Amino acid sequence: MAHEDFEVEAEEHVEPLDAEARARREAALRFVRKFGDPVLRARAREIDAFDEGLVEEVRRMGQIMHDSIGIGLAATQLGVMHRVLVYRVEPDAPLAALVNPELEWSSEETEPMDEGCLSLPGVLVEVERAVHVRVRARDERGEPILVEASGLEARVIQHEMDHLDGVLILDRTSRDQRKRAMRALRDAETGTPSPA
Ligand code: ZN
Repeated sequence: MAHEDFEVEAEEHVEPLDAEARARREAALRFVRKFGDPVLRARAREIDAFDEGLVEEVRRMGQIMHDSIGIGLAATQLGVMHRVLVYRVEPDAPLAALVNPELEWSSEETEPMDEGCLSLPGVLVEVERAVHVRVRARDERGEPILVEASGLEARVIQHEMDHLDGVLILDRTSRDQRKRAMRALRDAETGTPSPA
């Protein structure tokens, strides 16, 4: 079965990038903190000042997410310890930004799907998530918003909210898949080719 790509591009799903898009992606990915960086394990702080700085932060996150060909990004992935996340599930949809998101409700119904993460290059693991969620948040201007999401949108929101608490997909998958992922991450670090 073809997996839904998540923050990472799944080669078989995405058209080959031209050289310019590839260069833009590499440049954007340099801003994204990778596994092993302690910021990915820290809890982000609530936002209490809704100012131009926050608007600019959200704009920048949207740009980096877009250039990285991701569909979601949490501020912590850029080393900014703010409870802010952005996502865009449909290519033409406007950028969605959630500030201080709170999970109000999630369905008992869950489903497994392969997820990747810009902070875990080359890793794809199966994660079980609630199919439906209801989240209260503010937008970057401080306006209260209520998001009711299902399917991939609900999954992205849960993935990015996890980042704000220092939780990674490695913590949400089976022991076997975590072991395999850790091996792939280590090999990527040392440049050893992974056997599988
Ligand atoms: Zn991620």
